[in-house]
Amino acid sequence: MRIRINDILDEVSAYIPDADTRMIEKAYVFSARIHQGQTRLSGEPYLNHPLMVAWMIAKMQLDTASIAAGLLHDTVEDSLTTVDDIKNEFGEEISALVDGLTKISKIHFKSKEEEQAENFRKMLLAMNKDLRVLLIKLADRLHNMRTLEFHSVAAQQRIAKETLDIYAPLASRLGIYIIKTELEGLSFKYLNSETYTKLKAGLDTKAKEKEALLKDMMNLVVTELEKVGLKGKVISRIKDVYSVYRKLNSQNIDFENVYDILGIRIILNTVEECYKALGVIHAMWKPIQFRFKDYIAMPKQNMYQSLHTTVIIPQGERIEVQIRTQEMDNIANEGIAAHWRYKEKGKVDKEDEKTFAWLRQLLEWQTELKDPKEFLQSVKVDLYPDEVYVFTPQGDVMRLPKGSTPLDFAYSVHTGLGHQCMGAKVNGQIVPLKYTLKSGDVIEILKSAKQHPSKDWLRIAKTTRAKNKIRAWIIAQEREQSITLGRELVEKTLKSSHSPALQKTLKELNLDKLAASFSLKNKDELFAAVGFGKISTHQIIHKIIPDEVKDEPKKEPEKKLASGGITVKGIEDLLVKFGRCCRPLPGDEVVGFISRGKGITVHRVGCAYVSDMDQQRLIPVEWDTSIAETHEIEFSVSCDDKPGMLGSITAVIGAQNVNISKTSTQSLADGSSRCVFRVLVKNLQELSLLFSKLQGLKGIYGIERSQTF
Ligand code: MN
Repeated sequence: MRIRINDILDEVSAYIPDADTRMIEKAYVFSARIHQGQTRLSGEPYLNHPLMVAWMIAKMQLDTASIAAGLLHDTVEDSLTTVDDIKNEFGEEISALVDGLTKISKIHFKSKEEEQAENFRKMLLAMNKDLRVLLIKLADRLHNMRTLEFHSVAAQQRIAKETLDIYAPLASRLGIYIIKTELEGLSFKYLNSETYTKLKAGLDTKAKEKEALLKDMMNLVVTELEKVGLKGKVISRIKDVYSVYRKLNSQNIDFENVYDILGIRIILNTVEECYKALGVIHAMWKPIQFRFKDYIAMPKQNMYQSLHTTVIIPQGERIEVQIRTQEMDNIANEGIAAHWRYKEKGKVDKEDEKTFAWLRQLLEWQTELKDPKEFLQSVKVDLYPDEVYVFTPQGDVMRLPKGSTPLDFAYSVHTGLGHQCMGAKVNGQIVPLKYTLKSGDVIEILKSAKQHPSKDWLRIAKTTRAKNKIRAWIIAQEREQSITLGRELVEKTLKSSHSPALQKTLKELNLDKLAASFSLKNKDELFAAVGFGKISTHQIIHKIIPDEVKDEPKKEPEKKLASGGITVKGIEDLLVKFGRCCRPLPGDEVVGFISRGKGITVHRVGCAYVSDMDQQRLIPVEWDTSIAETHEIEFSVSCDDKPGMLGSITAVIGAQNVNISKTSTQSLADGSSRCVFRVLVKNLQELSLLFSKLQGLKGIYGIERSQTF
């Protein structure tokens, strides 16, 4: 088929009577100049291709900008023309469409597993918020598939596979069933030509055999519908070749056993008429049990609505009958309805639900706009607002959260690559580490064995994975320092000891045995434990000479808090202490401070000491609510200075089952009194409850939690 520019202009004026076609004509001239002298593999002038694509877009009844972009879609790819040239000649809107199309043409899908295909499809959607780009791309791909015969066998296989994996599902997701079906059929033809030819011949024969039968049936249906006053369109359908193939495969049956090859569709005006027609059909022919589906009352997730029933006609054939309104038929054929995964996998995950919700919204706008095509001209969509899809240099697609940087990318490939990341090339250009990744970017990480993570990276990385890996590395680094510190502490203790039994060098001691006595694996763990403060040097001495230190003032072994009700994401086995300055309680907002050799000290956010600390050494921590320890805190109560006041306060505290560890009272000059209490509480909630009970007491002016004590 040969399309001329006038065919396109005629087509456009048919659905946009007062269309301004100047841009289309200009685009035609521009494209003709760029493609002059170029031929397609078929030998025909190259210009035929953009003309054909533009014509298909006009058939979809898109706007004039889309048609102009269709004519221009290969001009940047195939020549020295730039997107800026297009912008100067045709303006922002058309150049943005051409830019999107050029970007897609530069990326190629390497057929791999299904997950990669899915990510690739999402990347196309994420890259192109303007759906018109995708619709033009589909027209482009459809024309290329129709003319695939001129390619080498290898190219045919590659393009057909890409079409089947990416573009047919994309057409399906956008609800364009007509394009989806043709793309599938063409891909199937090249990928599995033997089966295709056999099935196609079978279907053609069947269609021919049953042509007369179907015609009689349709006439009969029209007559019966008219008897009850229904006037509708009745059309016959035959299953497409690729769906038959899928059915044969999935149900493991022969062609002869695929029953619902023949079908009719009845299109009416209202929903009531649909149900009425269903009654007519069931009165005419016997329905097959369990084959009736009411997608009108219960629409599919993708908004598909129709009544389906399968009946047996006297000639023995099974016929699938679909009954729907004209509007439902439009949505099923060409609406931006998402048919894809629901149909393919029969389930909808949470992410898809979001997409479907969005598409539902889109369809609502569509009906409001009356003209079903109008909305595509202005609406920009972001189907995956929280994600970006980028390529590895090997062509794998990776999904990352929006806002991710090359550092996140490096860590998601491999921890080692992250640690040694010193920069990145994006689409061949060197970018800073804090560059924000965009869908479609090709990322190459530059690494160096000398590079290592730094605290600054915690601000650059966006993903939890990268942050945890960076933190873990930093903590491990602290561990190295703790080992050194621990070794020094032990050595110093031994040297300064007066006991001859301790006048030994480290080499003379059996350190591994000593470590084992603390249930630790080796001497490094032992030193690290000393460095972190988990084991005191007194405990070490006690192990070496148990008897001689008996009389020494035994320092209370440091309370082994293990985690102390605090967790640091991605890191285990840390010594945690609570700041004596601010006494945090579970429920308080807290922050950790890495104290070299002493593990982590937890402070309340806003603690005056924290602001004086080296901010680089702060680390996020969270309360582990599964651990219920009591914490000592202090508060003061100002109240009337009168007998019995202290008694009633302590009674309230006691009634809340809170233990008091210390109290003091002070009479003030103004006739009031200040009582200070130290209590043991489990968490902030418990403390708040106690405060509110105390506030209910008569004679109380105020209660204040002490910052320090
Ligand atoms: Mn093209």
